[in-house]
Amino acid sequence: MQAWRSISLWMDQLEESLSPRTALRQDLDVDVCIIGAGYTGLWTAYYLKRQAPHLNIAIVEGKIAGFGASGRNGGWLMGNMLGEDRLLADCTAPQRRAAYDLLHGIPDEVERVLEREGIDCDFRKGGVLYCAARYREQAATLRSYLQKLYKQGLTEREYRWLSPAELATQLRIATPFGAIFNPNVATIQPAKLVRALARTVERMGVKIYENSPARDWRPGEVRTAQGTVKCHWVVPAVEGYSVDLPPLGKYQMPVQSLLVATEPLSDQLWDEIGLSRGQAFSENSRQVTYGQRSADNRLVFGARGGYRFAGQLRENFDLSEREIELRRYLFSELFPQLKNVAISHSWGGNLGMARRFRPHMLCDPQHGVALAGGYGGEGVGASNLGGRTLAALILEQRNELTEQPWVKRPGRVQHLARWEPEPCRWLGYNAIIKSFVHEDQTLANPHSAPWRRRLASAVADFMEGFMH
Ligand SMILES: Cc1cc2nc3c(=O)[nH]c(=O)nc-3n(C[C@H](O)[C@H](O)[C@H](O)COP(=O)(O)OP(=O)(O)OC[C@H]3O[C@@H](n4cnc5c(N)ncnc54)[C@H](O)[C@@H]3O)c2cc1C
Repeated sequence: MQAWRSISLWMDQLEESLSPRTALRQDLDVDVCIIGAGYTGLWTAYYLKRQAPHLNIAIVEGKIAGFGASGRNGGWLMGNMLGEDRLLADCTAPQRRAAYDLLHGIPDEVERVLEREGIDCDFRKGGVLYCAARYREQAATLRSYLQKLYKQGLTEREYRWLSPAELATQLRIATPFGAIFNPNVATIQPAKLVRALARTVERMGVKIYENSPARDWRPGEVRTAQGTVKCHWVVPAVEGYSVDLPPLGKYQMPVQSLLVATEPLSDQLWDEIGLSRGQAFSENSRQVTYGQRSADNRLVFGARGGYRFAGQLRENFDLSEREIELRRYLFSELFPQLKNVAISHSWGGNLGMARRFRPHMLCDPQHGVALAGGYGGEGVGASNLGGRTLAALILEQRNELTEQPWVKRPGRVQHLARWEPEPCRWLGYNAIIKSFVHEDQTLANPHSAPWRRRLASAVADFMEGFMH
């Protein structure tokens, strides 16, 4: 079982046995067949079973529950959704307010389930600090983002500017220029959550088959090597792995994100750094960084990885020295005292990025297909909303979950925005990332001339425009 433990720090920390459940070795006839035992699949099963206990639900998982991003992520459980400001731009003010309330309530909803089901996943709702931490321009970017949110009707209760002195009461970094604080974010131990959810839905009567990759699927049928599942509803919940299940790969691009974790740090170091309530934090650059102080006092810190030609999945996440050192450099800029600290774990995973960075929840009742995804790197909380929403859609409910702009109802997979074919996708993605890296290097260099700094940011802004 060592192979499963090496997936991430989080899987390594589990005390339970990781022996796979039995594989599917027969044909089945069920109401709902879910492909993939990550958060999306498991939350969908959970909310379906709670409301309709009679439903016969089977989950086929290619490896083991939590093998995917759900067992590897940075543990930010956000009351947000990627690109929410753009998704809600055309709504009326009351619709937008209701949508934000729904999103901001995600961590509380998860906490209610944890309490109800007796799940311990080191849940701490300490909020998140988006820090201007490495160069002055980060403060200007954050402040203009804050103004955009206020124009959308959000208030200081939800997003608040912290001066360097105010930030220091929560997090002490080397060169603070200020931060945005958002209280609607929790940190968790991700693998504890996904593994406990699997046990919970099993207790409710859902059958999980592991080591049972779906080879192909179509409405009404999912085929694995040793058994075919006939069903009224198929719920493909494979997010970053969509490339292996046509036609889903046209709509979800797999990108990687990579993390490192330190050995547990001393109380003295944490007294210097802060994060005493388990706050999540990032330094707000286009490197997409994210960190948390784990419940056992490690610094866990990640940053964007890459994209491989034709959406090839990365399978080997033994990080190279360069990949580890980039992350060490980024966190040492914030915490110079951690420059030489021992790194005990490094890992990464594949996540699904939808075209225009717009997550979706989709229901096609005519063909019996429901799916949610494209969360980008923000799916820990969004997948809970996804599971709740798919359950409501399958149960033919109409409520605030089903009336959001990210819900396509009725909608077919083919109605989602497609990624460009190769080699455009690879060339485009890498050109954009190069502009981001160039911007970051230019701004991080205090000797860069002002015109160079402005030019680097203008190019990165322009390139980012293609993503949206
Ligand atoms: C390194 C990393 C860090 C991240 N950090 C954060 C974070 O801090 N906060 C945040 O909000 N989001 C984060 N994310 C994103 C978040 O983890 C994901 O959006 C979320 O876990 C997606 O859950 P899922 O169930 O949709 O997909 P997954 O968890 O990837 O589950 C998909 C499952 O499908 C299985 N599968 C694949 N193909 C098949 C097949 N053919 N047949 C059967 N089963 C199959 C896989 O084995 C896997 O178990 C991160 C992602 C990564 C990779």
